[in-house]
Amino acid sequence: MSYTQNVLAKTIKNSPNEAEFHQAMTEILPTLQPYLDEHPEYEKAGILERLVEPERQIMFRVPWVDDNGNVNVNRGYRVQFNSAIGPYKGGLRFHPSVSLSIIKFLGFEQIFKNSLTGLPIGGGKGGSNFDPKGKSDREVMAFCQSFINEFYRHIGADQDVPAGDIGVGAREIGYMYGQYKRLTGQYTGVFTGKGLTYGGSLVRTQATGYGLVYMMENMLAAKGTDFKGKKVVISGSGNVAIYAAEKVMELGGKVITMSDSNGYVYDVEGIDLNAVKQIKEVKRGRISEYTEYRKNAEYFAGGLVWSVPCDVALPCATQNELLEDGAKHLIKNGCIAVAEGSNMSTSIEATHLLQESGVYFAPGKAANAGGVAISALEMSQNSLRLSWTFDEVDGRLRTIMRDIYINSSKAAENYGMKDNLVAGANIAGFKKVAEAMYMQGSV
Ligand code: GLU
Repeated sequence: MSYTQNVLAKTIKNSPNEAEFHQAMTEILPTLQPYLDEHPEYEKAGILERLVEPERQIMFRVPWVDDNGNVNVNRGYRVQFNSAIGPYKGGLRFHPSVSLSIIKFLGFEQIFKNSLTGLPIGGGKGGSNFDPKGKSDREVMAFCQSFINEFYRHIGADQDVPAGDIGVGAREIGYMYGQYKRLTGQYTGVFTGKGLTYGGSLVRTQATGYGLVYMMENMLAAKGTDFKGKKVVISGSGNVAIYAAEKVMELGGKVITMSDSNGYVYDVEGIDLNAVKQIKEVKRGRISEYTEYRKNAEYFAGGLVWSVPCDVALPCATQNELLEDGAKHLIKNGCIAVAEGSNMSTSIEATHLLQESGVYFAPGKAANAGGVAISALEMSQNSLRLSWTFDEVDGRLRTIMRDIYINSSKAAENYGMKDNLVAGANIAGFKKVAEAMYMQGSV
């Protein structure tokens, strides 16, 4: 059995009931074998055995009082996965589905993603099974403050720098940052995704969505085309989906769908983003309300966007949202490229189907790395006590995404897997982390 297969089998055995973490490892580890064959010293130094075991996992009680005066208890998580190349960095997810397995898969992916940005950030992820949906602002604040009452002691600007993810946006980051400051008396860049009035960076809100589209722009260019006149299917209607749609439209593409966990809207004339922003960012409502703004649009309860014919698909909702059936629809309808805005949007089987059918595919750890990259630039600006202009940050984002594309496609080509951006991104991300771990010794 090869080194990667051996570590994969052992780790799956040692971490039962962690299906999402197993999936992330199964997607990543085997693709590293050709690189490890060239570096037998890494096997000797147990690099993979160390890589799959988080440096530290924190789980804690988060009690809070709701508007009816009842006490609720949620569970908080932070997996500090790897600090070989920088302080732990990664978002917090607040969603009822959050479990240790989900946080471990996200944290594991984050190690590679953060390395791909070329910036000095290690991998971590956290969150809670708290559901912000339907909660009042005061309830969300009470939860965030209680979360920080325990969590503040585990984070720091040079130690672990959390940010947002699903269910955690500007409002939640503000409440958490405020509580951190109250408890520690420190005004440091300990969170990213902060508001612009207290240390946030321009472009951070747009960065994941814009970055995703910059990645796709590079992919399309490699195939001799661009966004002009392309029909684009987007799933989700959160921060990533909204700003991906905005950039697609700016580049001449037409976005025809958006969705949430209840269903999707199809707007043949092209999605009206002001309506979506109003529904999601202002009213915190559901995407079904879209038809109140656009009479010609159709709403499909319970459906998935993949059956809508398109040239380009950008899954931007959540993990495992694009499965074999969806992939078959995309292939049948002539879709040419898919890039993941959400983490691990596509199952392994669906990814293989797309790749085998010649659909150019970019995994989330490369395609959605723009968000965390701009988080790292927010950290830089906080350390400098300066802030850069929108154009300066956006220009850096474009360059970072181009470099991620080039590094991933070159790595794939160098190891005989041309156009396999999954393998390429894994190898390109792994190289730097493995070398840093090796050089820092094994204990
Ligand atoms: N949650 C985002 C991600 O998956 C952003 C993390 C960050 O900015 O630290 O990469």
